[in-house]
Amino acid sequence: MTPVAERLSAIDAAIADAARRAGRDPAQITRIVVTKFHPASLVQELYDLGVREVGENRQQELSAKSEELGALAGLRWHFIGQAQTNKAAQIRRAAQAVHSVDRARIADALDRAASDDALLDVLLQINLTDDPGRGGVAPAELERLAEHVQELPTLRLRGVMAVAPLDEDPAAAFARVHGYSERLRAVAPDADWISAGMTGDFAEAVAAGATHLRIGSAITGPRPAQG
Ligand SMILES: *Cc1c(COP(=O)(O)O)cnc(C)c1O
Repeated sequence: MTPVAERLSAIDAAIADAARRAGRDPAQITRIVVTKFHPASLVQELYDLGVREVGENRQQELSAKSEELGALAGLRWHFIGQAQTNKAAQIRRAAQAVHSVDRARIADALDRAASDDALLDVLLQINLTDDPGRGGVAPAELERLAEHVQELPTLRLRGVMAVAPLDEDPAAAFARVHGYSERLRAVAPDADWISAGMTGDFAEAVAAGATHLRIGSAITGPRPAQG
């Protein structure tokens, strides 16, 4: 086995353990491999190992890698970084899901960028900190943003996304996210995805009901120099 294959299977075993400890079925949890800062060849290697969900946090990198690899059957790109409205068309062209919708303007731009009949899966990123400079909608604005997104015909509202703050116990942070998910489902019953949990806190996220984990370095290895 290659180092990547070994790390992938170790993480999948750890996810399955965390799920069982939480009384959950591991099959209900989608593991997205975050490939940022790594070359397209790593995405190909992961694909050959059976990975079908990959995540990127910068539009240029997302576009470049997805173009380089072309159509790989069943591969889905998740955009998880801060989205700029003037890059919405490029994001939409390359990604099948956007986890970082945090304001009406970016939702509108993604909707306008539709070029075929395929719906774009979107999640509402929630800011778990008091710092408005971090990405994410303020929790108080969640329902208002959800209702706006629901009116956009080419977007499919799927759920919530969050990053645990550095200065808070992730279990407590993800418990709050679970509550926000319930609030979202009160206005959008089908929007039941919870995208939460990274290399350092995926077990806590699984315990709190995460349906989509975004795991990078534990699988890909350390990121090359960040440009
Ligand atoms: C980089 C990144 C991840 C993955 O981080 P790791 O700690 O490497 O697992 C998850 N979510 C977002 C939004 C990221 O930018």
